[in-house]
Amino acid sequence: MDIIEKKQSDVCSLNNIILELKNIVGEAYIQIKFNEMSTLTLGRNVSLFSPKNVNAIVKPGSINEVVQIVHLMNKNNPKLGLHIVSSGYNWGLGSKEPVSENAIIIILDRLTEIREINIENGWAIIEPGVTQLNLVKLLKDSSRMLNVTASSGHTSVVGNILERGVGLRRQRTDDLLGLEVITPDGEKIKVGWWPHAERDTAFNTFGHGPSLLHLYTQSNLGIITGAVVRLLPRPQKQTVLHLRFLRKKLLGAVNLFRDWYAQEMVSGVLKIYDTVSTESYGGSVDEHLTLICVSGNHKKVEATISIFLYCLKKPKTVEYLQK
Ligand SMILES: Cc1cc2nc3c(=O)[nH]c(=O)nc-3n(C[C@H](O)[C@H](O)[C@H](O)COP(=O)(O)OP(=O)(O)OC[C@H]3O[C@@H](n4cnc5c(N)ncnc54)[C@H](O)[C@@H]3O)c2cc1C
Repeated sequence: MDIIEKKQSDVCSLNNIILELKNIVGEAYIQIKFNEMSTLTLGRNVSLFSPKNVNAIVKPGSINEVVQIVHLMNKNNPKLGLHIVSSGYNWGLGSKEPVSENAIIIILDRLTEIREINIENGWAIIEPGVTQLNLVKLLKDSSRMLNVTASSGHTSVVGNILERGVGLRRQRTDDLLGLEVITPDGEKIKVGWWPHAERDTAFNTFGHGPSLLHLYTQSNLGIITGAVVRLLPRPQKQTVLHLRFLRKKLLGAVNLFRDWYAQEMVSGVLKIYDTVSTESYGGSVDEHLTLICVSGNHKKVEATISIFLYCLKKPKTVEYLQK
């Protein structure tokens, strides 16, 4: 629906909001739709969901600007919702598309500060614009690592956690310790575990009693402007085995992998790709690709791989990448 077809009061309200948004973030950081003239570039929606009408895309440059936007929306048209993304690369799950019509999209990729990092204790305080690549580069050659996903290095660590994504080592929600939230009335609160200013404390993520932490994952109850994220200990050696097997062998393969998992021979999330994805990764159309991570000290990794090879009895079908 075009702006000129809307009720006059809504148009005034939207125009006022856009004017004030420009004052808050600056002209360079807002894209608007006005009649047929549109400066909106939402990017490709690779999720095949039906596209929604979007009134504006706004990129605040500070937490203070985020708070001002919330106050502005509260005093104006309550029918215009905000849709928040961090980097907005939620490919396959909606990309940047809002859930409801006529939303104003807030992209937080300008909030890129790594506020604090503690290698010894294994945590980092990061903002929504911090990408996997940013953290991985920072942790290179350290005793800690990030539980990365298989998505692009340019995706947001916070965005993926809020979407309850899957890392290569474990569920991303397991990496979440604390959140900084701007509530719908514009208050900044902290939930979950945050480091104590003067002394080290144990990670007591859920505290006492009901926990508010996961009220804010996969929900639209607040805008997340910061998170405390776990950094995992880096093993001496990590290897990813690439196994391909015929589609008709799926059941047998799953049973075999289940046993390896039960015997704790698999270190991370075991992935079995469908035949379409397998083809895109270089396999043939009637095959499944499996990625199996093995890590630990050198001896453990070598021993585990030799057990795998022994189990498979056909060593030539196994390819593995040394990392
Ligand atoms: C080839 C390929 C491989 C992939 N592999 C994986 C994988 O291994 N694991 C995986 O999990 N995904 C994977 N994905 C899917 C997707 O790319 C990732 O989940 C990606 O991290 C999500 O995009 P993002 O980090 O930019 O999050 P965003 O798109 O920024 O955020 C995701 C959602 O979280 C909410 N949100 C984000 N930020 C905020 C905020 N600050 N405040 C409030 N709510 C917020 C919003 O609802 C938003 O829509 C893959 C995709 C492709 C194409």
